Amino acid sequence: MKPSWVGIAMCAAGCSVSGLASAQTPVQSAEVTVTRLECGTSAAPADVARFSDTFAYDGLKVQLVFSCYLIKHGSDYLVWDAGNPVGNTPTAPKTSLTDLLAKLNVPVEQVKYLGISHYHGDHTGQASQFPKATLLIGKGDWDALTDPKPAQGVNPAPLAPWISGGGKVEAVTGDRRDVFGDGTVVVLTMPGHTPGHTSLLVKLKEKGSVLLSGDLAHFHENYDGNGVPSFNTNRADSLASIDRFKQIAKNLKATVIIQHDARDVSKLPAFPAAAR
Ligand SMILES: [Zn+2]
Repeated sequence: MKPSWVGIAMCAAGCSVSGLASAQTPVQSAEVTVTRLECGTSAAPADVARFSDTFAYDGLKVQLVFSCYLIKHGSDYLVWDAGNPVGNTPTAPKTSLTDLLAKLNVPVEQVKYLGISHYHGDHTGQASQFPKATLLIGKGDWDALTDPKPAQGVNPAPLAPWISGGGKVEAVTGDRRDVFGDGTVVVLTMPGHTPGHTSLLVKLKEKGSVLLSGDLAHFHENYDGNGVPSFNTNRADSLASIDRFKQIAKNLKATVIIQHDARDVSKLPAFPAAAR
């Protein structure tokens, strides 16, 4: 009997395992949305000189904000960044992430993933509100957080539920992690600000591709001029990441959202509305 090499060859071109009919079927149909969550209270425009190691921003003041995001994928949710902690500090958010989610009728238990762009305290502050979520974090940052002697600026406390072994962790390696396996929500490895810094790509049906920066850049001038903050962990990696990020943005015609820049807040609908 001859082997059915014809079927095998056709399947290599994209059919399903069970037959040859589904080559034209869309890969995914889960509804994907993005909602911005206020994750800190901003004071007046801040002096941003320290965000350049070439004295590019001396005298410049920028209104910074703190942003988290809720990504809906079908009936699953991913929270991207956990912002400042609630409490009495000047930048503490007025409403906790849990309370914001309650206003959207999203139970905390439905948050399957907590994606953290990097280990700085204004991105991890409310992480412990989601101890059942799988933590998605760049391998370089995870290694820094779990080092017996964490370096300066590395603050493991907010991620204690995972570091202690109580929560599931997926440390992102390679250039990306396709979270739901259909290409709609992708963690992009963008090292430099920290060793395992990541950004997030979300592909929406109506709005198209959206890129959430993490701290790849902190404000427009920083992004436009390839500025490297003096406190980044690696200058060469920072420049390589910003170059890659810009090429991705161009190729996908993406909406770029610099998470800390107040001028980018209006690129998404105001809470509780979501971009689709
Ligand atoms: Zn940062």
